[in-house]
Amino acid sequence: MSDTIFTKIINKEIPADILYEDDMALAFKDINPQAPVHFLVIPKKAIATINDITADDREVVGHLSVVAAKVASDLGVAEQGFRTVMNCNEFGGQTVYHIHLHVLAGKPLGWPPY
Ligand code: C5P
Repeated sequence: MSDTIFTKIINKEIPADILYEDDMALAFKDINPQAPVHFLVIPKKAIATINDITADDREVVGHLSVVAAKVASDLGVAEQGFRTVMNCNEFGGQTVYHIHLHVLAGKPLGWPPY
């Protein structure tokens, strides 16, 4: 797949407000927050959509949730609760084709989300 803006963030070619980083994943604040707390967790491996995840990606994809919960805890929003969302393709509202877990928190969130 071709590089996206998230590859540039991983490579520190463009700035992002980074909250957490390790060898598999990166978490940073969303530049267009949809809740009082809104950050993204992305794998360093470029995977375009959920449809492109393979069995070999199980560890890294599972790790995204571990990082989401850790950063939510660090930000003090884990106990009240939060929502994770991974959009897929056009109808899912995906705009950046490098999978990312949205983490939204800081207020009661409506359901259904449309
Ligand atoms: O799920 P979707 O692909 O629409 O989400 C992409 C997200 O990436 C958006 O919420 C957008 O605000 C965010 N973004 C960002 N930093 C960038 C480019 C996009 O946080 N440089």
